[in-house]
Amino acid sequence: MVVHGGAGTWRPEYRDRAREGVQRAVDAGHTILHAGGDALDAVQQAVIVLEDDPIFNAGRGSVLDQNGAILHDAALMRGSDRAAGAVAAIAGIRNPIQAARAVLDEGRHVMLVGESAAHFAREHGLSTASDEWFRTPERVEQRGNTVGAVARDANGRVAAATSTGGTNRKHPGRVGDSSLIAVGTWADDATVAISCTGDGEGIMRIALAHEIDALMRHARLDLNAAADRALQQLAPFGTGGLIAVGVDGAVAAPFTTAAMPHAIRVGDLPATIHA
Ligand code: ASP
Repeated sequence: MVVHGGAGTWRPEYRDRAREGVQRAVDAGHTILHAGGDALDAVQQAVIVLEDDPIFNAGRGSVLDQNGAILHDAALMRGSDRAAGAVAAIAGIRNPIQAARAVLDEGRHVMLVGESAAHFAREHGLSTASDEWFRTPERVEQRGNTVGAVARDANGRVAAATSTGGTNRKHPGRVGDSSLIAVGTWADDATVAISCTGDGEGIMRIALAHEIDALMRHARLDLNAAADRALQQLAPFGTGGLIAVGVDGAVAAPFTTAAMPHAIRVGDLPATIHA
C-alpha cells in the first residue's frame, strides 16, 4: 500500500502534518488489505482519509480557482478488469473519490463532469458538503498538494486512485491529469498501478501513467527504470512525481519536485514515511 500527498514545494512547517496525514491514510488502506479486502476498496479508503484532511489539496482544503470557486477532479481504476471511474470539475460532494467510485460501479461510463457529475453523486446518496467545509485557512494560504493511493491486495490485484482540487487559481473548467485515466491514474493487473502528481498540463502531454505501463509492457523495463525514464520524458514539460506498485509487489515513488510526502506499507511491516 502506498499513498502520496502531492509533489511540489512543501513548507517545512507543514511537513509534520503531511507526515501524519499520509501515515493515517496508508494505515486505513492497510487495514482493508490486512482483512483480505480488495485493492480498489483500499485505495478508495486511503484517499477518503486524505480528502478529509485539510492539509492536502483534495476534498476539504482544495485550492481555489481564479474566481474563488472550488472544483474537484478524482479518478480510480481497478487492475483486474480495467474498470475505471472519474469525475472532473465537480463541486459540493464531500468525497470526490466516492463519486468516481459510483461512476465505476454503475459501469455505463468512465467519466462525468461538472454539475451533472454532482447530480449523479447526489442521486447515489453521497454526502454533500458546504463551501465552508472545503474552504479552509490552509487553502486560503495555498499549501498542500494532490493526493493518491496505489495498492496490491493478497490476491495480487492492483488498483489506483487520485484526487485533487487542481492547480491554484486555475481557469474555471480546467481539468488536470488526476482524473484522466491512463494519464494521472492507471491500473492493470498485467503490469502496474500508478497515481501521478505534479504539473498536470505536462503530465497530460506525455500520458505519464500509461507511458510507464508501456515501458514495462513493450520495452520490458522494470518498474523503477520505467518510472525514472518516464519522469525524464516529463522534464521538458514540467516536474512531478508518482507512486506505483507492480503486480510483482515492486514499489516506486520517484519525484522531480522538492518534496512528495508519501507512505509505504509492505505486508504487515510498519509504514515507512517520507515527508
Ligand atoms: N496534477 C495536479 C493537477 O494538475 C496537481 C498536483 O498534482 O498537485 O491538477
